[in-house]
Formats: sequence, structure tokens, C-alpha cells
Amino acid sequence: MTETSAQLPLSAQSEAASANLFDRLVATIADGTRTAIVAEDGARFTYDDLVRFSGRLANALVASHVKPGDRVAVQVEKSVPALVLYLATIRAGAVYLPLNTAYTLTELAYFIDDAEPALVICDPAKLEGVGDLASRVGAGTLTMDADGDGTMMALCDQQSNDFQTVGRAGSDLAAILYTSGTTGRSKGAMLSHDNLMSNALTLIETWRFTPDDVLIHALPIYHTHGLFVASNVTLFSGASMIFLPKFDADEVLARMPSATTLMGVPTFYVRLLQHAGLTAASTARMRLFVSGSAPLLAETHRAWKARTGHAILERYGMTETNMNTSNPYDGERLPGSVGFPLPGISLRVTDSESGEILPTNEIGMIEVRGPNVFHGYWRMPEKTASEFRPDGFFITGDLGKCDARGYVFIVGRGKDLVITGGFNVYPKEVEDEIDAVPGVFESAVIGLPHGDLGEAVTAVVVCAAGSPVDERAILDALDGRLARFKLPKRILFADDLPRNAMGKVQKNVLREIHQGLYGPYAEDRGRNP
Ligand code: AMP
Repeated sequence: MTETSAQLPLSAQSEAASANLFDRLVATIADGTRTAIVAEDGARFTYDDLVRFSGRLANALVASHVKPGDRVAVQVEKSVPALVLYLATIRAGAVYLPLNTAYTLTELAYFIDDAEPALVICDPAKLEGVGDLASRVGAGTLTMDADGDGTMMALCDQQSNDFQTVGRAGSDLAAILYTSGTTGRSKGAMLSHDNLMSNALTLIETWRFTPDDVLIHALPIYHTHGLFVASNVTLFSGASMIFLPKFDADEVLARMPSATTLMGVPTFYVRLLQHAGLTAASTARMRLFVSGSAPLLAETHRAWKARTGHAILERYGMTETNMNTSNPYDGERLPGSVGFPLPGISLRVTDSESGEILPTNEIGMIEVRGPNVFHGYWRMPEKTASEFRPDGFFITGDLGKCDARGYVFIVGRGKDLVITGGFNVYPKEVEDEIDAVPGVFESAVIGLPHGDLGEAVTAVVVCAAGSPVDERAILDALDGRLARFKLPKRILFADDLPRNAMGKVQKNVLREIHQGLYGPYAEDRGRNP
């Protein structure tokens, strides 16, 4: 197993003043006059600008009574100042706590009560409600709008550029990110300075980032993908990023001639493929397309390769662990696979019940261990203990397998597994077969309550534009391709699948919508026994 420290780029090997992520970032800056960020309007921020700007913001945090170890909760629109606020929080030795901009006041109440931040920074439009919630836990409130303006910036403007970064140990907390909670109550994943640092350096090496790279950053920054993977990888490699407020296919295509890399969720690639402007010529300067946060359909991978000549590099990670696996930079980027464990990270597939390690190609629980793995769930010691094995492996909750070459495949979340008549059905296997039926664009397979079977395999299908296909045609196509117990009892149709902002299909929403489909005492009508 490769040690992550052996992967340090030369520039990162200079002595950092402490294990604080920011000190280590400063130690990597070879030329502070180089551009770090280009905003949508063309405004440029050099690395020196980031150091000064984060100094002012860190002074503003201290002036707002933020002390080392305090949580700073942030629910603001994406902007360059919002990203610098993340750096400033780290600099001040505090713990950055980003919150999805879609959360309502009712949802925010849970996060604020749970995390007990010292300061909450929100959009001016939400000040009244958020102010009430913050005062319940004794927190102050400042505002920041989509341009970065507000009371936070007014305070920042009065501060000095100079700020002595607060020394931190590698195991001290840098951030708490709440899990998206699609399968239960949202939990605060505690990430240390070392967790973030090790993953950034590992990805830089694996994906060959250099100061010459220009990343198109179109992801939200309240999530691990846009905040840590995209931003930390860019900044720690001395590269630059074009910072877009959101994904827009026209805008992203227009930027490709001046960029080298794109990191996206699968939806980005699906939408770009629908754009006539996506060609080998328009992507000629790009060297790398990375996909993650949700499964990339093998079909999307192939279509992308056919149109552009580029093989999308798919990787797998989660809030709790940063990134765990990646397809190779050189070598085969296998459609449908998330590649190999990253250097320094161990991955195994086990029997969920016994914890025994399973042989090649058998589906089981994915477990990971490495410097990337979080320190536990905030104020949930029992939940934390139950999700780690005694030898330190974290039980991810994802089901998957490894093939003989070591490629890892994810078949879905454990909680999405369908148990029908006592048999386990892995949704991905059924979805892959349905997706291969002509006229189908995509599908989601769920288990719904069923009187006889416990759960009935049920598919929700989105048809390709202009190619209607009906339930009977799909069931006929599946006949003989899957064991009978895996065949959907019903196939439902939808215009699209419900997804969260990271492109993940919300199967909990589908289950809720269709829960009564088979009736409270539904019997197996023998449709597809
Ligand atoms: P989050 O914590 O929001 O980043 O969600 C993490 C979850 O997203 C993982 O546990 C997986 O279930 C899923 N995920 C992330 N990347 C992939 C991928 N490349 N393929 C399939 N599922 C993925």
C-alpha cells in the first residue's frame, strides 16, 4: 500500500508552520502572483489575494467572537467570497459547517441546534428567521449575498490583511459536513485537517494536477465534491479555477477552450451530451473529465467517448470519507466501475451480517480505511461506534463488488436493497437490464410494501425522447435475462426521476410517492412470479 506522504508534490514538501490546512496551503504556494480563481465576471484572484482576503475575513470572524474549535455555520449562495470564507474559518482554527442552500428554516433549526455554532452566516433574505434560530444557541449572525456583500463583508472591509493562522494538530477538526440524509436523519461528519489534506494530495497525484491546470468549477460548495475535491485539489496544486455560480451547459461549453479539466456529477455529462456544441473540437483543449457523487451510466460514458474522444474518469467517495476510489489516469477507465482504491486507502467487500471478507465478484458491504476516513459523527458516539469495525474499517453503507482485476463496482446503497419473498435483489442489476431496453432513457428500481412478498420489486422508468415504450415491452425484454424473482412486479413511468442537487436519485421520495401501489394487504397477483 502506498503511503500518502510519499505522494506529496515537490512544492508541498516545504515546511508548513502547523498542520492547519491553511498553513500547509501557504507552504505549497510557489508563486503568489499566479491566478487562483477567475470569477464568472472575469475578476481574477491571485494566490496572494486569497491569503490577504482570508486574513481580513479571519480577523472579522475573531471580531465576531469565533474561537478555535467553534463551529461557523454557513448557508450562502456560491461566490468567491463564500469560498474564501471557508479558508478564513480554517485559518482561524474554527470548524467550517456549510449548509445546503435549499434547506428551509425548519431544516436549519435541526442543524443549528445540533451543531451549536458560535456564528451563523446566511443570505440577507433569511436573516430574520436564521437570527432567531441562532440566538437560541447563543450564536451571532452575519449576512452574505450571492455577490458576497452583506454585514460579513462590511466587517471584513474594516480588518487588516494580516492574520496569524491558528496552529492546529492534524487530527483537529476542520469541517463538519452533514450527510444528505436520503436514507435517514442527517448526521454531522467530522473531518480533520489531515483528512482533507491527505485526500487533496492523493487526488492531485492520481489525476496529475499541475499549476498549468484550469478547472471549470460549476459544483455547489456546500458539498464535499465542490468544496473539497474540486477546490482543494485546485488550490493545493497551484492551478486555477473558473468559478461559476451554477452549472449551465452553454456556459460550461463556452469555457472549455480556456480550461483543462471539469469535475461534475453525472447530470452535467447527460446535459452536455444533449447540447449540439459538444464535439471533439470543443473539448480539444480539455485533458480530464471527472464524474462522481452518483452513478454514471455506462451508456453516458460510451456516448461521451464517441462524441468527444475523452473517456470520463469516474471516482467514488462520500461525505464521511472524502474520495475512496478512482479509475486510473493511464489505463482503462472502465464504464460502470468506480476504479481502484486510491493510494493509501484500503477497501474490502464483506458480508454485512458476519463482517467476513467476501471473494472476488461477490456483492457485499463496502468498507474503507485510510487517512481520508472521518473522525465520527458529531455528538453521536454510539452511531459512530456501530459504523466502524474493530480494526478501523468504516462501513460505508454502499453495496458493491471487486472484480478479478481489482476494479470496484457500486451496486447501490444498502438501504435501497430490495428483499422480496426472502430474496435479495440489487436494484442496479435490474436497472442495467431495463436501461438496455431500446426506448428507455433511465430507470430506478425500488422495493414497495407488498402483502405476500414483504417488498415487491418495482421500476420507475423514464423513456428516451420520442421513443415510447410500454410496460409489457419492457417486461418481455427482461424475460429470460433475470431470475424471475428479480423481475419487476410493476413498471411505472415518469417524465424524470427525483434527484437532489448532487444528481443522486432520491429513492426515498419514490418509495414515499408509490408506497400504496400494492395496497395495504396486496397479494401477489402472479403477474411476474
Ligand atoms: P455524499 O455523502 O452526498 O457524497 O454521498 C455519498 C454516496 O454517493 C456514496 O455513499 C454512494 O452511495 C454515492 N456515490 C458517490 N459516488 C458514486 C459513484 N461514482 N457511483 C455510484 N455511487 C456513488
